[in-house]
Amino acid sequence: MAKGFGQSETFAVRDLVVRRGEKLKGRLLAGRLADGSPIDIPVIVAHGREAGPVLYVQAACHGIEVNGIEVIRRLDQEIEPERLTGTILMVPVANVLGFNYRVRQTVFDLEDLNRVWPGKKTGRISERIAHLLFSEMVSRADYLLDLHTGSSTMVTHVRYFGEDPTCSALARVFGTRVVVDEPLDVNARALRFDGKLRNVALREGVCGITPELGGHSKFDQQAIRVGFAGVRNILIHLGMLRGTIELPPEQTVLKLDTQPLTANWGGLFLSQVEPGERVRQGQTLGVIYNPQTFDILEEVLAPQEGMVLSFNENPVVHTGERLASLGLIEGIWENH
Ligand SMILES: [Zn+2]
Repeated sequence: MAKGFGQSETFAVRDLVVRRGEKLKGRLLAGRLADGSPIDIPVIVAHGREAGPVLYVQAACHGIEVNGIEVIRRLDQEIEPERLTGTILMVPVANVLGFNYRVRQTVFDLEDLNRVWPGKKTGRISERIAHLLFSEMVSRADYLLDLHTGSSTMVTHVRYFGEDPTCSALARVFGTRVVVDEPLDVNARALRFDGKLRNVALREGVCGITPELGGHSKFDQQAIRVGFAGVRNILIHLGMLRGTIELPPEQTVLKLDTQPLTANWGGLFLSQVEPGERVRQGQTLGVIYNPQTFDILEEVLAPQEGMVLSFNENPVVHTGERLASLGLIEGIWENH
């Protein structure tokens, strides 16, 4: 059920006042650098000719995750506000400080911007950026797409909260071949996931998903195509754009094992399976070998049947470090 923020003739984000049938670009001031330069966040608001839901689309919450920025550029090209129903709020580079320095975290306070939502008005710079975006845009949206990327050794997928049917529907319609059902549980709180945008937004009645599109720090054309098709599907699903939803023949639903697969030895981890591959219980996923003697120190076995979601990008591992993420197959969505 839409909150109704998109019903009025104009949609204002601070001094950016957008009339029906208009699309405008602006910047929101979050603070200043020591030399007085602004720390300001680029935003694009498309206020459709017809009133409808409000969709918030964000990229680069982590500074090195550039694929979502390119997805938003294509979305900006595609969207004609004259033909749009509802309102799209786009933030192509949420973490401008990390982006400028080509790092994941926010430079200066070294925070993870996706652990501090909904932020604080008078907090550190990450908290101020989160507060600005949350209060001005996210809290007025009905739906949310938080575009992230993982590593080049990760399967492109969508993370969502499976117990909520609206979130599940968004995850399905986005159309990746793999989706990961991520519960809001105690483990999540231990990992500070309670400050994650998607979780915080859901508490405010904003249903969202987190697409993980390919690897960071480079444009991954396949992941960008999947991401753009996904955003288009969502717009059609929400009645904001006309068109046909296109989905793969089947989508695999994974639940992540709460026990991560970690190294018992130090050495080099050489994987023997590919991300996206289905594995049976006890199957060898890879070996850890000594970089001097080349002795095999550990054979890493699949603790249960499932699908390999990702590997550590760097094969150099110390004891206790994560090796891979294995998902339990919860179900298959068939699309005909
Ligand atoms: Zn990210």
